[in-house]
Amino acid sequence: MNDCLFCKIIAGEIPCNKVYEDDAVFAFRDINPQAPVHVLIVPKKHMANMLECDAETAAALASAVGAIARQEGVDASGFRIISNCGHDACQSVNHLHVHLLGGAQMAEKMA
Ligand code: 5GP
Ligand code: ZN
Repeated sequence: MNDCLFCKIIAGEIPCNKVYEDDAVFAFRDINPQAPVHVLIVPKKHMANMLECDAETAAALASAVGAIARQEGVDASGFRIISNCGHDACQSVNHLHVHLLGGAQMAEKMA
């Protein structure tokens, strides 16, 4: 049995604050938000991180980023997307996810 946290959220076994869903993608608010808008965008199909991401899933995630940014009202003001991948990036949930952060001026740039 899959005991992945985000698979359980997608399946509705663990509650979340859902903001978006389509055939391939599910998105919900981060439980520990780091910005006024902090949404986690995940593929419905389990994959550990970007290393396992196929082109079709990458396109679905990118399309969802735009849709969610517009829905959350940060398309004009700006937003940041981050996907932590593996140990050195401090990935803590091993189901691919893209953080979408926005809603306030950010203090620092990492890249
Ligand atoms: P990572 O550190 O892997 O890039 O990001 C994992 C994110 O998942 C963290 O920002 C953390 O706050 C969030 N998170 C962990 N557990 C839960 C949960 O049960 N529900 C929600 N909505 N977010 C979670
Ligand atoms: Zn999963």
